[in-house]
Amino acid sequence: MSEVGKHNDKLLLGGCLAAAATLVLGLERLLERSSLPTAQGNRVPASIPKRKPAYVPVKLNPQSAFASVPGPSPDPPEVVGKFWSGCLQGASELPTEGPGFQRMRLSRKRGFGHPKLTEVVREIAERTKREGYGDLLVGDLSQARGGPMIGGHRSHQSGLDADLWFATSRDFGARRLSLGERESLSAVDMVSRDGRSLTPAFGSAQRRLLEWAARDERVQRIFVNPRIKKALCQEPRYQRVYWMRKIRPAFGHNYHFHVRLACPAGDRRCFDQPETARFENGCDAELDSWFTADGRLKAPPPAKESPDFYVPRECLALLKAER
Ligand SMILES: [Zn+2]
Repeated sequence: MSEVGKHNDKLLLGGCLAAAATLVLGLERLLERSSLPTAQGNRVPASIPKRKPAYVPVKLNPQSAFASVPGPSPDPPEVVGKFWSGCLQGASELPTEGPGFQRMRLSRKRGFGHPKLTEVVREIAERTKREGYGDLLVGDLSQARGGPMIGGHRSHQSGLDADLWFATSRDFGARRLSLGERESLSAVDMVSRDGRSLTPAFGSAQRRLLEWAARDERVQRIFVNPRIKKALCQEPRYQRVYWMRKIRPAFGHNYHFHVRLACPAGDRRCFDQPETARFENGCDAELDSWFTADGRLKAPPPAKESPDFYVPRECLALLKAER
């Protein structure tokens, strides 16, 4: 099983649905009551309240409607709901390859996102190539209309999340990978087996990738393994940069990092997580809490078997929209 499939945001996103719902409800109240700065520095005017969606449960099976929908809806791009409970209309698809990038695990059909997301990925990719690191290897974005997935992610539902491999094509001979290799090649682990240190694979390319993504004003959060965050915190040059606040610890994320955009301005049905504190670098007690007293990484909580998914009612209507 690949690392991408093991991706786990549960702790951050509220593995327990009830806890997540409470958290989300609180956030929604906050959003409805006030104006919050977005990552772009824009404000959602308080006079245009966000509309709270009605959530309905979705039972998933291998023929799940969200997984088998043939393509994006014809509507203009708009995010509906939340990262871990939502969908996307008018998605754009990142091609299987392009200037500076190659998509991986193509059979999953998860190369769709809000146009802003595919734009951000393209820009990071072009820079990766230009600076001599080879091609960016791109993992999952979202399904054609977003929504819950069979296996793997809890988030990636609203077209604002992308998994980018830490390894680039330079680590695989700096060439175009065959379609078979894109399914089967193992990604490169950046964290040592005992969780106490980084592997030699984590070098300048990986630091630069994180920095480019974090500096992007459209990016709200980046999830990395706590050991990676800790290593950055231990380097003086990263301790005082504003973008370090966006780099957040999460279980897994030792083969890839996860880029999350803020809600696009004007998407009234899109619900953000709270902003990361503007002046904190995240090198704090919360980060330390991911480690045991003797410096190892704590184990992730056991995965919940066949969890129920909830999406806004509008997402079910979106599934039926004709192309
Ligand atoms: Zn992810």
